Amino acid sequence: MALRRAEQRHRTAAGAASGADRAVELRGVRRRYGRGATAVHALRGIDLTLPRGSFTAVMGPSGSGKSTLLQCAAGLDRPTDGSVRLTGTEITGMSENRLTELRRSRLGFVFQAFNLLPSLTVEQNVLLPARLAGGRPDRRHAARLLARVGLDGKGDRRPGELSGGQQQRVAIARALVTSPDVIFADEPTGALDTTTAAEVLSLLRAAVDTLGAAVVMVTHDPTAAAHADRVLFLADGVLADDLPAMSADRIAARMATPPPARAAA
Ligand code: ADP
Repeated sequence: MALRRAEQRHRTAAGAASGADRAVELRGVRRRYGRGATAVHALRGIDLTLPRGSFTAVMGPSGSGKSTLLQCAAGLDRPTDGSVRLTGTEITGMSENRLTELRRSRLGFVFQAFNLLPSLTVEQNVLLPARLAGGRPDRRHAARLLARVGLDGKGDRRPGELSGGQQQRVAIARALVTSPDVIFADEPTGALDTTTAAEVLSLLRAAVDTLGAAVVMVTHDPTAAAHADRVLFLADGVLADDLPAMSADRIAARMATPPPARAAA
C-alpha cells in the first residue's frame, strides 16, 4: 500500500497520468463574476490534472478561489473560459441534463454541513444518489457501505438521532454508493472535533487507497490536509503552490508564508 501511494505521488508530481487515469483535468480555467471595472476574477487560469487514486487538498486564504475551483471541477459552475474534463469527458458546453446525469453517476459529494435529508432514514439517504441515478436501490449494498463507515445496524435511524461524526460518515457512505470516480469534499471536517475528524479523513483516505477514487478536499485545516498526497495552495485565483504530501506542521508553516509575488502579466 505504501509503495502504491508512493508511486501515485510520483506520477502526480511527474504529471504523467494518462487517458482514463485522469479523473479531473482543468486547462486554462478562468471564472469571472460580473463585467467591466467591478468584475471579480475568481479563477485566473488554472491548469491541473488529478489522477485516479489520488487525494488532493486545496488550501488558500478566504476569497482565493477554492470553492469556485471545486464547483467548476465538479460541473456545478461553468468556467468563463477553459476546459474541464471528468474521467476523459469534456464537460464544458455539456447540456445541463447530461451534466446532472454525469454528476449523479460518477461523482460523490461530502459537505461541511453533511446535507442529509432529515425525513429519510440513514439507509434511504445512502441510497438516494443511486435512486436519482436510475439504479435499483440495493439495500445490501447500503448495509455494506454503512458497515464500512462503522455504522453497522444504523440504517433505520434518522440523521437527527446521530452525532455529527456519525452523520458525516453517513454522508461518506452516500458519496460512495455509486462507486464514483471523484469525490469532492468541501471542509468535510469543519464541524467535527479532532478525533471524529481523523476518522472521517481515514474513510476518505480508504476511498482513495482501496476504491481508487480521486478525492479533492477543500480545507483550512493543516491536520486534515496532511492526509492528502498533494497540497495545492490558491492565492488570488491562481495556483500559487503544488506540493507533495507533508506534515501538518509544515503545511501550517506554508500557510503562514505569503506566496511569492505574481509576475506582472
Ligand atoms: P474561497 O472558497 O477561497 O473563499 P471563492 O471561490 O468563494 O473563494 O471566491 C473567490 C472570489 O470570487 C471572491 O472574491 C468571491 O467574493 C468571489 N465570488 C464567489 N462567488 C461569487 C458570486 N456568485 N458572485 C460574485 N462573486 C463571487
